[in-house]
Amino acid sequence: MAKNLYFFDEGDGSNKKLLGGKGAGLCTMAQLGLPVPPGFVITTEVCRRYYESGGKLPGELMNEVGAAMQKLEKLTDKHFGDLNNPLLVSIRSGSMLSMPGMMDTILNLGLNDESIEGLAKGTKNERFAYDAYRRFIQMFGKIVLGIDGKKFEEAFDGHKHKVGAKLDTELKAEDMKEIVRQFKQIIKEEKGEEFPNDPNEQLRGAISAVFKSWNTKRAKEYREFYKIPHDLYTAVNVVTMVFGNMGPDSGTGVAFTRNPATGKKALFGEFLFNAQGEDVVAGVRTPLRIAELEEKSPQLYQQLIEIVGKLEQHYREMQDVEFTVEQGKFYMLQTRAGKRTAQSAVKIAVEMAEEGLITRKEAVLRIEPKQIEQMLHKQVDPKAKGQIIAKGLNASPGAAVGKVVFDSERAKEMGEKKEKVILVRPETSPDDVGGIIAAQGVLTSRGGMTSHAAVVTRGMGKPAVVGCESIKIDLNKRSFEVGGVTVKEGDTITINGSTGEVILGEAPLIEPQMSVEFEKLLSLADEFKRLQNWANADYPQDAKRARELGAQGIGLCRTEHMFFEEKRLPLVHQMILAETEEERKGALKKLLEIQKGDFKGILKEMNGLPVVIRLLDPPLHEFLPKYEELLEEVIMRRMSREKPAELEAAEKLLKRVEAMREANPMMGLRGCRLGITRPDINEMQVRAIFEAACELKREGRDPKPEIMIPLVGHVNELKVVREQLEQVARKVMLKHGVDVSYKFGTMIEVPRAALTADEIAEFAEFFSFGTNDLTQMTYAYSRDDAEGKFMFKYIEQGILDFDPFQTLDRKGVGKLMRIGVELGRGRRSELEIGICGEHGGDPESIKFCHELGLNYVSCSPFRIPVARIAAAHAALRAGEAEKQRYL
Ligand code: PEP
Ligand code: MG
Repeated sequence: MAKNLYFFDEGDGSNKKLLGGKGAGLCTMAQLGLPVPPGFVITTEVCRRYYESGGKLPGELMNEVGAAMQKLEKLTDKHFGDLNNPLLVSIRSGSMLSMPGMMDTILNLGLNDESIEGLAKGTKNERFAYDAYRRFIQMFGKIVLGIDGKKFEEAFDGHKHKVGAKLDTELKAEDMKEIVRQFKQIIKEEKGEEFPNDPNEQLRGAISAVFKSWNTKRAKEYREFYKIPHDLYTAVNVVTMVFGNMGPDSGTGVAFTRNPATGKKALFGEFLFNAQGEDVVAGVRTPLRIAELEEKSPQLYQQLIEIVGKLEQHYREMQDVEFTVEQGKFYMLQTRAGKRTAQSAVKIAVEMAEEGLITRKEAVLRIEPKQIEQMLHKQVDPKAKGQIIAKGLNASPGAAVGKVVFDSERAKEMGEKKEKVILVRPETSPDDVGGIIAAQGVLTSRGGMTSHAAVVTRGMGKPAVVGCESIKIDLNKRSFEVGGVTVKEGDTITINGSTGEVILGEAPLIEPQMSVEFEKLLSLADEFKRLQNWANADYPQDAKRARELGAQGIGLCRTEHMFFEEKRLPLVHQMILAETEEERKGALKKLLEIQKGDFKGILKEMNGLPVVIRLLDPPLHEFLPKYEELLEEVIMRRMSREKPAELEAAEKLLKRVEAMREANPMMGLRGCRLGITRPDINEMQVRAIFEAACELKREGRDPKPEIMIPLVGHVNELKVVREQLEQVARKVMLKHGVDVSYKFGTMIEVPRAALTADEIAEFAEFFSFGTNDLTQMTYAYSRDDAEGKFMFKYIEQGILDFDPFQTLDRKGVGKLMRIGVELGRGRRSELEIGICGEHGGDPESIKFCHELGLNYVSCSPFRIPVARIAAAHAALRAGEAEKQRYL
């Protein structure tokens, strides 16, 4: 049977699942010969059993812990609860995946009315000893006994006030003793029992409390947000206490081996002399930067550099470490992979690959496609002249605009109403996580680059400005004041997490710029991917942007978007409503010229690359005024009895629109059905495409149009339309005397098309899965209504695991796609197959498209970088052997 606990020199540091991240890190460090205080880990399995038995520690556990404590006593030459030389321990949580600040930690355990004397004597520092004691009682009271922390804080502040002390450091040993007395009193009053003097009882209580903290509301919220499974559980680390608050040659710090905001290769972190670890993380006192430590204590700095260097080499990953110096002696308390912004992650991955620390494949796999989305965060336009009212630390990059709110509950409420808010707090704590999730960004007046707000927002990819000390927050008045400006709850501000600036009102934002490392990462990704990345683009400028972002083709040009433009709409109306053949032809001719210009622009931008142009898809009445509005107009005009000519025109239009009305337009006269009933529109479009292509060809360019016929459900639809349109294409080419390389193909967006794809492939050189419609028609969920109406409920109630309009439903829609691919390629082996529904930019769906063997995925231009990484991940995870040579 597996052991319940492991000493740091025996645990397997690679088994984070069993030992938790912190425990595994401590084991690894101890086994690397780095200075770690002696201790042991109680495994996550014990925590599982704790929950399975309804909150009871396994029977044998405390005996084993007792034996381990005896071993620890030997190792440290100290004794638990001893009057002379007491052993004190910290009890720390630690799950497989980091959940910073979410679970509990208890320090200085083992202090009681006897051992306190020992600590005071041993350190020759009575004040320090009693300070440690009061901290312990406070933590124990709050965490183990569940007493409201405010009670202790009020007593502490009350005493400070009484003796006229402003800072904690002004309190003397006598004051600490008095505070200890008061704290014990609080426990007695609140719980009706004494604070436990027996260290073993303390230990038992603390271990249970840490296990319990796995399931607090905030921890559950955090796991839900990060999709961390609830059954990973936490380990408990019992670690010999070392003290960073033992005088001027002591201190505590946190450091990252590289910069977590920018990725720069330089030690980054903070250090507080004469303090305990919690003081740094809580962000209450503003600490020294690590660079200042180099000036103040070069020896310590050197030691730190050596240790973290070894750790980074060992883990081949940026590390986030916590350490304490006790009277000049270094102790490592924690190491873990550091949380970082997406920018930083990309720079670190690329540079580590260049340094040879990791492979190129690992570099690509280290960046999750979702992280790339963060990099596409908007920035404050540098040219904008907003009123900068304050400047704090640029803790998490990107810009956010929103209404100021001062507490997390409020942020959550407003967030649910889809209002954009900025959470403004003196500092944040783990209880604020829900509020941070709901907010666009966070602004705090206290705390450093490793404060809670900074760490959490960086992890979430949310902009944050922290330690903005010039803002004076008044939580009671729900406002803050800075430089004569008062900002009230509900007022709009912009925070710039890249510069630390706080701007009054809504600043204009611009698209993000791509860094050199980002470009490098994307190029690396391209080496590994098999899927091509195409873009959905309707205009030349979108095509240009797509190409800059790495698009290898246009997978969908929705030509109807060109019709909607203001100046063109009257022509479209004329074309639809024309009463005579002549009138209609006139309108079509004008539209032909316009469309030719559009297509020429796109084909030119994509020179040499394929451009899939879809013929008109939506029902025609979508281009006309709404029936209800027209009806209202006619009624108004009738009542006013004015301008009979205009009334007549309105009535006529109403009649035409009425005649075109359909009960179910999404299943009505749209797509190829429209082309069959109104061939002149399709013909005009194909003529425009080939006119444009021929002209480009004659200009020496290389246009590659692919004509896509939408919404085919029966092969004959495609057959008829294609035959008719190919004639048009040939005529135009003949006229120009040039040959354009082109393809005719279809969308597969109707289930029947997928099921009869072999027949369809007979007449199609390419397929493009229109998974928006295919999802709509497979589920019979209206794509325009589902998300606003019932989808949320379906997901909340667990009827669906995810929204199938965002992530492809493999089981149903995916099955149709698989059939479509197999039948299609069975008939025409070289059939080009892609996807152009929204799923083409979704990493999970891209993975599926890779598995299906599609040729490309197509998505909107701004998602191309995400899709490129996702395509590489899909290939790498599928273990493409032939790509291994790149490693
Ligand atoms: C689709 O149906 O997936 C598609 C791309 O076409 P549209 O969204 O224009 O209907
Ligand atoms: Mg469609």
